[in-house]
Amino acid sequence: MIDITRRDFFKLTGAAAVGLLFNNMVEAASKPAVGRVRQTDIDFRSARIDKNVVRIRNGAGDLMYVIEGKNKVALIDTGLGIGDLKGYVETISKKPIVVLITHGHVDHASGTAQFDDVYMNRNDNALFKEHTAMGNRKGYAGACNPEWAKTLTDANYLPGDDPARFKDLTEGMTIDLGGVHLDIYDLPGHTQGMTAILIRENRALISGDGANMFTFLWSGETLGLTSYEKSVRHIKKATEGKFDKMYCSHGGGDLTVDYFDRMLEDIAIIKAGKDDAVDFEFMGQKSKIAFAIDPAHNRLDGGIGNIVYDPKRINE
Ligand SMILES: [Zn+2]
Ligand SMILES: [Zn+2]
Repeated sequence: MIDITRRDFFKLTGAAAVGLLFNNMVEAASKPAVGRVRQTDIDFRSARIDKNVVRIRNGAGDLMYVIEGKNKVALIDTGLGIGDLKGYVETISKKPIVVLITHGHVDHASGTAQFDDVYMNRNDNALFKEHTAMGNRKGYAGACNPEWAKTLTDANYLPGDDPARFKDLTEGMTIDLGGVHLDIYDLPGHTQGMTAILIRENRALISGDGANMFTFLWSGETLGLTSYEKSVRHIKKATEGKFDKMYCSHGGGDLTVDYFDRMLEDIAIIKAGKDDAVDFEFMGQKSKIAFAIDPAHNRLDGGIGNIVYDPKRINE
């Protein structure tokens, strides 16, 4: 793992900072996804986390999920589009692959070109084009894992894609993999098209970046804190009693099953002005990290999870 202090983090710019914070924080609520081997020479590692669910970690530390049904497999997210992800998924299952993109950020959506059957919420189409541009992918890989990025040549980067060919992914849809159903929920906030996926029979909810250990709500594509709060209340109610495992896309990948309640508590603390509101400057834009963290990114108050928000958009 890259050792990064908070001071280093605050000096970074671009998507790189996001990746560094997400992927190098200590996984306070979870166990490591794929062990402690440094990923300097390989593009993917994986671990089976349920009988039909495999968690893949790419060289930058971003997490993807493979879910197998009787007829098909679903791949949740495609990472940075570096290396032969399709070939890797085929080592897990040879069944036809359907790809679901949780949101249009660089570290989730950049590898779609290898796949025919791709779903993503249309609200993230414009974001997809900006974020999956080659320069952005290279910058993110280099910042998250410089040693790995140095081993890469242009040939390792898959071509880009046009989201106009994707199928829309919206709440109320169900993707049937054969005995395993993926129920789709909107979770706008981190991006406008942010999508959460319930693996119905596994009783597991994938929240992606929509709720994770450092939920980012401060850049142009995000919603204000109050709108995000509504999203969290909505999905909490809609999924009540339907899951007892919760997975996200960074860090160790496991969240606590009461994670939405924790987020709502933290949002209430922010709205009451009682959070630590640590300064965070990003590309000239001033934001706040709600709860102070140590150099390993653990909360000083012992809490789990954190929110980075724009103080001007609390009531929006
Ligand atoms: Zn994201
Ligand atoms: Zn992400």
